[in-house]
Amino acid sequence: MDKKKLRNDIILIISLLAVAAVSLILIINKSVKTNLVARISVQNNVVEVIDLSKKEEKDFYIDGINGKVHVHTIDGSIAIVESNCPHQDCVRMGYISDSSHPIICAYNGVYITIDGETLNDVELG
Ligand SMILES: [Zn+2]
Repeated sequence: MDKKKLRNDIILIISLLAVAAVSLILIINKSVKTNLVARISVQNNVVEVIDLSKKEEKDFYIDGINGKVHVHTIDGSIAIVESNCPHQDCVRMGYISDSSHPIICAYNGVYITIDGETLNDVELG
């Protein structure tokens, strides 16, 4: 009978460890989870830093080298929706929401990149 009790205890301990392990993984995932930050630069000078994780809808009017560039953010993604550049490649890129494809408007010297930052890593200065 004691053996059965022991086995039940072991099962209980293993279950508790499993729950603890899962919680730990969730906690780690949460702290590593990145905050997506979009940076708009004009000729390598960062002019706007936008926290995309807020999922705000917002318009930015960036002074490019050759004119204004209308940048729009919505639901964690960002796009150039209007620009005076001749080829409109930047506008055609559409909305981006990760770091794999930066938006570049060479005509206006405007670059939009998305970086992931951990919450603990955000610089405040
Ligand atoms: Zn453009």
